[in-house]
Amino acid sequence: MAELSDDIRYLKGIGQQRADSLAKLGISTLRDLICFFPRTYEDRTKTVPIAALKQGESACVRTVIADEPTLSRIRRGMELVKFRIVDDSGSIDVTYFNQSYIRYQLQMGKSYVFYGKVTLEGQRRSMINPLFEPEDTPHSLTGRIVPIYRLTSGISQKMLISAIRRGLDECSAKLPDALPDSVAEKAQLCKSPYAFENIHFPSDYTALELSRRRLIFEELFVLSCALTRMKNSRIKKSGITVTAPRLERFFSSLPFVLTGAQKRAIAECARDMSSGAAMNRLVQGDVGSGKTIVAAACIWCVYEGGLQSAFMAPTEILANQHYKTFCELLSPFGIKVFKLTGSMTAKQKREVLASVKEGEADLLVGTHALLSGSVEFNKLALVITDEQHRFGVNQRAALIAKGHSPHTLVMSATPIPRTLALIIYGDLDVSIIDELPPGRKKVDTFAVGEDMRERIYNFMLKQVKDGRQVFVVCPAIDENEERPQNLKSAKEYSAELQSKVFPDLRVGCVHGKMKTSEKDRTMQAFVDGEIDILVSTTVIEVGVDVPNASLMVVENAERFGLSQLHQLRGRVGRGTHKSYCILFSDVDNEISKSRLKVMEQTSDGFKISEEDLKLRGPGDFFGSRQHGLPEMHIADLCTDIRVLHDAQEAAQELLKNDPELSKPENERLRRRIDELFVINDGTLN
Ligand code: ADP
Ligand code: MG
Repeated sequence: MAELSDDIRYLKGIGQQRADSLAKLGISTLRDLICFFPRTYEDRTKTVPIAALKQGESACVRTVIADEPTLSRIRRGMELVKFRIVDDSGSIDVTYFNQSYIRYQLQMGKSYVFYGKVTLEGQRRSMINPLFEPEDTPHSLTGRIVPIYRLTSGISQKMLISAIRRGLDECSAKLPDALPDSVAEKAQLCKSPYAFENIHFPSDYTALELSRRRLIFEELFVLSCALTRMKNSRIKKSGITVTAPRLERFFSSLPFVLTGAQKRAIAECARDMSSGAAMNRLVQGDVGSGKTIVAAACIWCVYEGGLQSAFMAPTEILANQHYKTFCELLSPFGIKVFKLTGSMTAKQKREVLASVKEGEADLLVGTHALLSGSVEFNKLALVITDEQHRFGVNQRAALIAKGHSPHTLVMSATPIPRTLALIIYGDLDVSIIDELPPGRKKVDTFAVGEDMRERIYNFMLKQVKDGRQVFVVCPAIDENEERPQNLKSAKEYSAELQSKVFPDLRVGCVHGKMKTSEKDRTMQAFVDGEIDILVSTTVIEVGVDVPNASLMVVENAERFGLSQLHQLRGRVGRGTHKSYCILFSDVDNEISKSRLKVMEQTSDGFKISEEDLKLRGPGDFFGSRQHGLPEMHIADLCTDIRVLHDAQEAAQELLKNDPELSKPENERLRRRIDELFVINDGTLN
């Protein structure tokens, strides 16, 4: 019996040279070896009579070798071994290239199972380089579902299969198992030995599925426990205690009834702020889910406690919009709202700064200007940043530094699937608003091709004639860059629309290269209804509210991520008017088409982001943060969302009952987490 920590050279047949090759695959101990899971599987269960083989089919045949294998040499030193195999129904000509030793491994008249791809020419069947095993020995390569591993030079499938087989046999009594029995039972998971056996050598597809589920669950469960435990043990910075006031008073002043999700998020914030520790929370919700109210409720609580709040937005327009909203929502309570933006005059700024410093201002709303050294608060207790992904962590920290560990609230509309958010934002508590206010009208969405252009132009014209406004979005591209044909540039396209298509309408343009002040001016003109059609790059993605806009046209829609299209689409349908989104794309490929179909079919941001994940991979969701996570051997943080969710729930439940994992039944789990943490020393969180 061997130990999991033993060097793989312990196994017969693995010497220094193979060990060096295996090291390139990350395999140096027996544990590494048995945890080196197959990349995929090949179904070689089917045995077919030779006569029934179809052209191009891969299958196993049970045969006898009918003649003596012969070796011949052809040009350039190429060696061929040829012979014929037969069964009751027919025969196959077999050829091996450059494997002359094969002829010593095969005996005429003996029975073998061959597996390979058949070529059928007239009545003649042939196979090149098929795999084979003697009929009378246990099969590992034929007659079953065969694992396919990632390889490196010096290591073949056959070699890995036999090494793993021996590894499993040597360690059978002590296979890795970090799951407490109660957890495994509750989640209806198979036992560890079964899982390891069947993940490598599945007896059938059901066994494979059961094994995969068990191993994925275990991996995600251990990760979840580790993260949760670290979060729990994080020394909570003591914060300013804001005693939870009677929120009903605030709620009843609102012109609408809050959704359940909004109430839940507000309650979570209120609980955080009254806990004595500093709040560190992310509120995540789709565009239009009503995150602003959550911020307003927090500001109200802080005001009731006699303290100040700061709210930072990524653009001047958004800061203005929020300023207006907060004035409407909060002024009736006597809350004094101030604004600080870059475009204000020095005198205006001075006055605001004085009010903030003296504590006359209860809330300061602004842009990056809030970060300036001249901004001093009197008793800052709450810092809110909107559209979190637009601010660096450092900027958030700079604002936080203006108070004595103030509570922080981060608001984001990037609809990351909820389970992923918990991993990505390991250091933040997360509230998710997964419910839209009632009565939201769906934005009718159509993915169309060039052939529809005339009709769409007419439709745009009609919208404007009806008094509405239109957004046109082009992919962000460099004007000077050589670009694929037909890719629309905002600047040129707006000029074209103005001069050739809509000479009687007012067409405006904003793009990334413009000065901020110029951009803001054009945006403001659109908000004020002085522009009918606004052509832009994705600069408008971030939450500008133009309730009168009822149509969003996206050019080269295939160039955008689904989540991004969803954010863009969120710019319309904000008023009382029936709204539409047109996605232009002339790309003729199935993936692109099915992606855009998703946009037609659903308006659920979380669902869309999950589709995006499936189709495009995690790229955008994990920034550098992913590096902090231990490597996953079998689980995929993007596609195994369901299991991740179950594992997280199980982890939370277990840690509630045994926060230190000190109970004997959780000992194995604790050791696994400690290993994980040592391996990733300090990189987590
Ligand atoms: P976002 O989450 O995108 O920041 P907002 O907070 O801007 O969303 O809210 C979008 C719109 O929905 C606003 O006009 C807001 O007044 C309105 N709203 C928010 N909550 C509700 C609700 N519970 N019922 C009805 N309308 C609401
Ligand atoms: Mg918003």
